[in-house]
Amino acid sequence: MAEVTTFEALKKELEECKTQLHETKQRLDALMDNIPGGVFSYDADTLKFIDISESVLNIFHCSRDQFREKYYNSFELMIMKADRAKTREMLFNQMEFFDNVELTYRVLDMMDNVMWIYHRGRLITEQDGRKVFFVVISDITEEKMVQAKMQQINEKLYIETERFKLIEEATDNTEYDYDVKSDVFESSKPDVDGNRTVIRDFLKNRVMYHRMHPDDYPIVNERMVKSLKEPKKGIVEYRLFDDEGNYTWYRLNYASFADKNGRVMRVVGSAKDITEEKKKQQELKEQVERDPMTGLLNKVAMQNTVEEYLKTCDIGSFHALIMIDTDHFKDVNDKLGHLYGDDVIKMVADSIRSTFRETDYIGRVGGDEFMVFMKHTTPVITENRAELLNRNINQDCSDGTETVHISCSIGIAYYSRDGEDFTSLFSHADEALYNAKEGGRNRFCVYEPDENEET
Ligand code: GH3
Ligand code: MG
Repeated sequence: MAEVTTFEALKKELEECKTQLHETKQRLDALMDNIPGGVFSYDADTLKFIDISESVLNIFHCSRDQFREKYYNSFELMIMKADRAKTREMLFNQMEFFDNVELTYRVLDMMDNVMWIYHRGRLITEQDGRKVFFVVISDITEEKMVQAKMQQINEKLYIETERFKLIEEATDNTEYDYDVKSDVFESSKPDVDGNRTVIRDFLKNRVMYHRMHPDDYPIVNERMVKSLKEPKKGIVEYRLFDDEGNYTWYRLNYASFADKNGRVMRVVGSAKDITEEKKKQQELKEQVERDPMTGLLNKVAMQNTVEEYLKTCDIGSFHALIMIDTDHFKDVNDKLGHLYGDDVIKMVADSIRSTFRETDYIGRVGGDEFMVFMKHTTPVITENRAELLNRNINQDCSDGTETVHISCSIGIAYYSRDGEDFTSLFSHADEALYNAKEGGRNRFCVYEPDENEET
């Protein structure tokens, strides 16, 4: 009887254990299906799947049969071919040191789209000696995509930065960056240590004023003031002095930027050395403006220069326009030859140059005809110079056989008494020159308005 009781008790206990086991398995299955990620197990020797949880199938969007069929029920064949060898190697490496393995690899899903998998597994030896890997996986495709994009952006950024550096090095442009708040000016031009040049208290110490050509400073300063008031863009040319006092021409492309409150925070710019360009421009200008034989201004340049000057000169200032014509010059050509004639023209030009000031404008306006514009003069000074010129030019020219006497006649008109513009000054000086010729040559005449009005 007692044996029966024991048997019954044991049977009941077994039933209870079975129920408990079933419940535990159900709980475990429920857990496996609901954890974020999928769970599967596979045979460590054959690499064949043993259990595949519902959640794995959710990740792969397929049925269990489809899953097993697609990957030939093999963990290894689930991994994309390109990643297999590397994954195996990583797994073995980690197994040597850790109980858990962590892998990332790619798989092709049912639609053959690439999916990135994060894999965390543990090797368990079962009672029958079978080695089984229990694995939790999750789909990390999105993270990987973001990561790849970030890497791409980083690479792009790196390339852009390098490209910018290269451009900066290749073009010999100097990059400027002025920070308004700190009054710090930075330039890409290397300092003595080869670093970017940094100038503190840039505006406070009037650095621009000290380094810039005085003719260019006002315009650059005006632009700077404007671009500090509001965002501005522009181009400006100027000359900077180096330590030896030589100047270099620059063309600066600049822009100023404001913060969200409209306050200008930075002014940046890129300056190009245009010294050579300026030199060529000047050479071309000279070619266009100068008379090749004497190096004096030609007629058009003379007119432009005087007109420009008259536009800006002060009301009430006193200037003189002087016409000079060589007397009997045809005789030089006729008796001494054309080449000798050329030398006489050059000699007359030199005499005029040495008689007047460097700041006066001197031009050759006809074959043997010259014009001088004397700035800020007086009748006494002007007439003294004219007399001196008459004396300097008055001489014999000879080639040893023939002798020709040369002299010059001069006509003077004063600004603004005899004319307020170039045309009237020119015609009145020319009239005075005519009078000098009529009066016997080798003399100067000043335009006489009253007399002229009567005639
Ligand atoms: P006048 O006293 O009235 O001025 O008489 P002129 O002989 O000087 O005559 P005019 O001023 O009218 O003539 C100037 C001459 O200069 C005419 C031309 O043959 C000559 N001529 C013009 N250009 C050149 C030049 O480049 N070289 C030389 N050798 N002669 C020139
Ligand atoms: Mg003449």
